[in-house]
Amino acid sequence: MNVFSPRSFLLKLILGAAFLLAPLVQAFDTVILDPGHGDFDRGAAIGYVYEKHLALDTARRVEQLLRKAGLKVIMTRSRDVFIPLQDRSAAGNRYGNAIFVSIHYNYNRGGSGSGVETFYHHSKGYTLAAYIQAYLVQRTHMSNRGVKHASFHVIRKTERNPAVLVECGFVSNPTERARMMTGEFRSKIAEGIAQGIVAYRKAK
Ligand SMILES: [Zn+2]
Repeated sequence: MNVFSPRSFLLKLILGAAFLLAPLVQAFDTVILDPGHGDFDRGAAIGYVYEKHLALDTARRVEQLLRKAGLKVIMTRSRDVFIPLQDRSAAGNRYGNAIFVSIHYNYNRGGSGSGVETFYHHSKGYTLAAYIQAYLVQRTHMSNRGVKHASFHVIRKTERNPAVLVECGFVSNPTERARMMTGEFRSKIAEGIAQGIVAYRKAK
């Protein structure tokens, strides 16, 4: 067995940085979950594997885990329906004492892309992104693409609350696609996201 595990070292590094920012964690009791895409907007798609279905199933699993942990959960969609981006960010701004977590699966041409990444836009979303990313990597052992800044509408326009967008792996990557088609793997993803949220809340 390796004494030095790069993965656990990375986790400590990320959480070490996040702990320094712990005073920036704001109290919350509500999690707004935003499963990406829906209806005619399939998102990333290979064959019959659609991002919209994977995102909704994963979000439902996160919802169950967070409710068990005593948190209130609002879903921007809980069915296969199309929700405009401005309605999603409006939901992100509707509640106080809340955080906003958008759930997606990734795609790249050629299929070589792999791993998980978490995006934030406003600085108050950074620490939440770092917690979710660290626990997601720990739980799934997927490659760590890191915490990144981006200007996606739902995290740019959700200004009231910390807001992040999680990319849970590549539909375009045959190995990751095979894993994400199993409920067991989507449960692991959901556990990573939920554990990251709960740990972030405890850091307050
Ligand atoms: Zn997406």
